[in-house]
Amino acid sequence: MFDTLSDRLGGVFDKLRGRGALKEQDVVDAMREVRIALLEADVALPVVRRFIDEVTEKAVGQSVLRSVTPGQQVVKIVNDALVDMLGGEETVGLDLVAAPPVVIMMVGLQGSGKTTTTAKLAKLLREKHGKKAMMASLDVNRPAAQDQLKVLGEQVGVATLPIIVGQQPVEIATRALNAAKLQAVDVLLLDTAGRLHVDQQLMDEMKAVAAISNPKETLLVVDSLTGQDAVNVAQSFGSQVDLTGVILTRMDGDARGGAALSMRAVTGKPIKFAGTGEKMDAIEPFHPGRVAGRILGMGDIVSIVEKAAATIQAEDAEKLAQRMAKGQFDMNDLRMQLRQMQNMGGLGALAGMMPGMKKAKAAMQQSGMDDRVLLRMDAIIGSMTPKERSRPELLNAKRKIRIANGSGTQVQDVNKLLKMHQEMERAMKQIKKMGGLKGLAAMFG
Ligand code: GDP
Repeated sequence: MFDTLSDRLGGVFDKLRGRGALKEQDVVDAMREVRIALLEADVALPVVRRFIDEVTEKAVGQSVLRSVTPGQQVVKIVNDALVDMLGGEETVGLDLVAAPPVVIMMVGLQGSGKTTTTAKLAKLLREKHGKKAMMASLDVNRPAAQDQLKVLGEQVGVATLPIIVGQQPVEIATRALNAAKLQAVDVLLLDTAGRLHVDQQLMDEMKAVAAISNPKETLLVVDSLTGQDAVNVAQSFGSQVDLTGVILTRMDGDARGGAALSMRAVTGKPIKFAGTGEKMDAIEPFHPGRVAGRILGMGDIVSIVEKAAATIQAEDAEKLAQRMAKGQFDMNDLRMQLRQMQNMGGLGALAGMMPGMKKAKAAMQQSGMDDRVLLRMDAIIGSMTPKERSRPELLNAKRKIRIANGSGTQVQDVNKLLKMHQEMERAMKQIKKMGGLKGLAAMFG
């Protein structure tokens, strides 16, 4: 996800950060590169223009250029603008506050992943929110669409409305509502007919279904791989029905990310979820702040912590959360995280989430290495003294040689680890400054 953009921006910012002082022209030059990177990522032109203007205006301010860490400040400004572009700091979750059965109407083009996503959401509602869900397929156009939903329903343990051949969408929706009421269902998901392109007959059908089912959420499913087309589709649908949100599928295959980046700015609709694979649990709430962090290579610390929370002892998690909330992150913390990474499925699962990890992984793949690197990093930390672990800034050239010898590695491996630690520490501090970890400790409670 966002790999190309992330790499490009990483290069631009490394240059900025590397300088002690910045001139206006440096910022302007950097922004030219950012602009190209965004356009290459297939972000809509007007969105790019607005973004660059806004960031440049803020970044060439004297308070930034004269500050002690101008490069870092510019990155922060870009980060904030990215978060805005993606829809603001908060995740926009599902609004399910209504008398049950709460209806979620799923709409989208054929092949966008609508049926799969309906089942993923149903699973999420059942497992994570403890809701009794039911699904009904109103797709009488695509042969076997109704059967497909039934099979998926069996897989995720969510009931589907029994199929009656020959019924029309509005009839099915009416029957689904009645069944949901009788069976005390909390959330009813209506999978409407897909369409090849936006056509009036199907739009009318969708409106008729909405009129009788009064959906609390109308979610448009679009394929992120189609880039700006996805955004255009969202605009067309949005002009016909009251969309409450967008779900972008195939984010796992979308290295460019243009649809995700332009969607909110162009359509005004929040991205609520991202589909990240074919499996039934490959769906994630869309967190603009975390996505921006991932794009800028600051790493998705909060996601890592959440993942970690699922695999580590509550006690450790709490300790880590408290330290992170204070912006503390030493070698002991890094070691704990490395060990959790091993538990969580190794590098593949986490690449891209952790600062520096993506580059490390690419380098490893090139040299034919694998998760053994995690073990090696662990060994390096193991060769440090307790004092060095809590104060890595003590590590001078001599100490590094000792540690490399002790762990059977090279000094450059020690340096790589230190760099990674520094990046993570910086990200922690940034998160702390932004107040992004508020309530993190509570999250583990
Ligand atoms: P529909 O016609 O919109 O209902 O599309 P389907 O739900 O049948 O999905 C079409 C194909 O896309 C299926 O093979 C799904 O497994 C696949 N798919 C759906 N969402 C995702 C996703 O987020 N990532 C990946 N890689 N594949 C997906």
